[in-house]
Amino acid sequence: MTDDEREAALEAIAAEVRVCTSCRLHEGRTRAVPGEGSASTEVVFVGEGPGFHEDREGRPFVGRAGALLTTLLGSVGWRREDVFITNVVKCRPPENRDPAPDEIAACAPYLRRQLEVLDPALVVTLGRHSLGTFMPGARISQVHGTARPADPGRGPQAALVFAMYHPAAALRTPEIERQCVIDMAAVPATLAAARARRSSAGRAAPAPAGPAQPEMTMTDQTPDQAARPAAAATPPPGPDHSAPSGPVPADPAADQLTLF
Ligand code: SF4
Repeated sequence: MTDDEREAALEAIAAEVRVCTSCRLHEGRTRAVPGEGSASTEVVFVGEGPGFHEDREGRPFVGRAGALLTTLLGSVGWRREDVFITNVVKCRPPENRDPAPDEIAACAPYLRRQLEVLDPALVVTLGRHSLGTFMPGARISQVHGTARPADPGRGPQAALVFAMYHPAAALRTPEIERQCVIDMAAVPATLAAARARRSSAGRAAPAPAGPAQPEMTMTDQTPDQAARPAAAATPPPGPDHSAPSGPVPADPAADQLTLF
């Protein structure tokens, strides 16, 4: 699929989202928020649902949490327009309540189709509802900063999923903000591992389902390392930063830690 075809496919999905009435969340929305970003990206960030500002603008992550996400991306030298940003539900839950399971289920086909079109190497979950979509049963306090293979049934055919706290939680709790900085610092190395995995498996080969795969710990860095954006873009050396079953396969692209 060419970039133009991907853009057209994403816009077709967005057009459906904007008029969707498949769950009760459409009743209170001002604007649906399909998502936005690069159609040729390797990295998709998936949050939970639109908030007040997102509902007004029809764009994801434009409030304070969005500003923090932009800052976190900048800490590894990335810009928001380099990635694709979306949510598990595309319409704002009233009073910013959690999305209900039936609302998440109703909206899931849109996210799956977006991920099928983008076919990213890396999906970064933001918050527990996004985590629940890609790592069912996992607890965010235990798995943030780690990656595991994505279930191809969720859309991406050979991706890693990397778990992070939601930036809104980071705004409320300084310790979570500190963890977000550390976790984001590991994202470029995780992308390199995802590229290596795709390269060794073959681009078209589906990834094994998640639960049978070993978890990959990507944040065994010191806070000092994470605090230096330039250093954070380099995979930390040593076996602790590879999958438990062995080192990540060598990949000519591994040193190329920018998105393009
Ligand atoms: S949240 Fe999703 S399923 Fe529900 S109305 Fe909005 S677009 Fe449709």
